[in-house]
Amino acid sequence: MIRKLDLGKYSEKLEARRTQLMMLHDLTRADRGTVEHDQTTVGRLSRMHAIQEQATALATGRQREQELARIEAALRRIADGEYGYCVICGEEIDERRLDLDPSLASCIDCARNAAVKH
Ligand SMILES: [Zn+2]
Repeated sequence: MIRKLDLGKYSEKLEARRTQLMMLHDLTRADRGTVEHDQTTVGRLSRMHAIQEQATALATGRQREQELARIEAALRRIADGEYGYCVICGEEIDERRLDLDPSLASCIDCARNAAVKH
């Protein structure tokens, strides 16, 4: 039996999240910028602090980019008619899981297997 997913609902969710992530990315751009090499006005400790803050901002930025990539891929799968199927085994992904995170690309079993390997 072929399941009929409400693709409109999922693409709406995905696009809303993508917009949100892109806005956040823009707002925090300055935090990820190069730490000023100004030894005269900024002390060594505050400079180290600034570098740490930047590292945190960069890590958050990378996570955001990964989520954006997952969202883009999910939107592509919707366009290709492959949405809702596990990209690893091809089984249907539980609709309740998609409701929680519409960018999911794998079923619960494959997600568990992947988690074990890491
Ligand atoms: Zn699977």
